[in-house]
Amino acid sequence: MRVVALLFCLFLVPDSTAQAQPAPSNELEQLARDILEEMVGINTAHSEGSTLELARAMETRFLAAGFPREDVEVTQVAEREGNVLVRLRGRSQAAKPILAMAHIDVVEANPEDWTLPPFELIEEDGTFYGRGVADDKDEAAAYAAILIRMKQEGFTPDRDIVVALTADEEGGGHNGIAWLLANRPEWMDVEYALNEGGGGVVVDGERTANSVQASEKKFLNYIVEATNPGGHSSRPRPDNAIYELSKALSRVGAHQFPVNLNEVTRAFFTRSADFQEDPRVGDAMRRLVADPGDPDADRTLEVDPRYNAMLRTTCVATLLDGGHASNALPQRAWANVNCRILPDESPEDVLGQLRQAIGDAEGVTVTMDGAATDSPPSPLTPEVLAPIEALTEEMWPGVPVVPTMSTGATDGLYLRNAGIPVYGVSGMFFGDTFAHGMNERIPVQAFYEGVAFLDRLVRTLATRGVS
Ligand SMILES: [Zn+2]
Repeated sequence: MRVVALLFCLFLVPDSTAQAQPAPSNELEQLARDILEEMVGINTAHSEGSTLELARAMETRFLAAGFPREDVEVTQVAEREGNVLVRLRGRSQAAKPILAMAHIDVVEANPEDWTLPPFELIEEDGTFYGRGVADDKDEAAAYAAILIRMKQEGFTPDRDIVVALTADEEGGGHNGIAWLLANRPEWMDVEYALNEGGGGVVVDGERTANSVQASEKKFLNYIVEATNPGGHSSRPRPDNAIYELSKALSRVGAHQFPVNLNEVTRAFFTRSADFQEDPRVGDAMRRLVADPGDPDADRTLEVDPRYNAMLRTTCVATLLDGGHASNALPQRAWANVNCRILPDESPEDVLGQLRQAIGDAEGVTVTMDGAATDSPPSPLTPEVLAPIEALTEEMWPGVPVVPTMSTGATDGLYLRNAGIPVYGVSGMFFGDTFAHGMNERIPVQAFYEGVAFLDRLVRTLATRGVS
């Protein structure tokens, strides 16, 4: 899942930061490119692909680079699904390791739907094409290359660095990070993690922000159901399960949850206010941070679904079913309402608000379908943010670092739920990458810059906070 770049602007334009024929400028970038090529070449989509095959290919590279056997592990979690872990030992065990994680599975890519072969790295006009080049084999290749180069150079960090390349983020039912948390606590005992979900934002060909994902919303479905004794449709009555459900759903549609900002979204709107093309939008962002109850500011921002989803919990009807025969009064009608809940709000409170909104619709009940996984926002600690800001200023002077909250969910959810902070950051700047779509792409220059950024960031973080 890679959606953060879309949060920033209404109009995405082709990315003019990509130049013709950028080339790797050092051994690290060359290695990262080679690994990206190998990763894209191995189909890791759920239907026919194998994350296990890719995990084993990376294991071979790590062992060849000199990592000892005990510091590399492939964990097979299903027939064709696997994760690979590697640890670069630090000088001290005084501080817990840093985890760099990336998922190596990809969304399905049917070659007939693409004009380019999806499972082959194509470099053309300053762009890499191939399934996974933007989500998330770019970051997986970067971290694999960074650790291998560190090992080859004899670089010893102050604390351990763990890289986890994982299965089934996009689906498949054997989520790698969840599995590792449950089954490999010795690998997952880390201070915090770097993940996907952040990245550089390009608007009108300009780098406008380096985003750091520090929070994500919770996901929960609610079932709205209307029941009725029913009867013969030749003798209708005023009470009717389909009509009552319709009434209830239009009230759900009209219900607006209150604006509720947290540390991360306050920082997002505060910093984003400075680079809005429309001054009214920037002004509304500032006013809403000062007073979340400002109705005018809310009205200005809520028309953009991306901002609206960051301001508040949202609930929307997504599935509908009802009745049992064309000649009978319906005995049952139901709808699925999908809610994306702010991290510090409770599913029970959302349930209460839905029930209140629905009010007196007759015979209608609302229930939670399962439970939401908690995902507390990760603190914006200077230990992590300061090096990101310093590096960003050095590499792209004047580009602000902007914390964000994902409105969808990433694997960061599982770690945050386990009490481990997660920061989505990449230093790769691009516009639309067609991630999950046809001819997925990333500017070549963005990839090499991101590799350089992550390399310097991991080195800095791994030599901080250890006395
Ligand atoms: Zn992803």
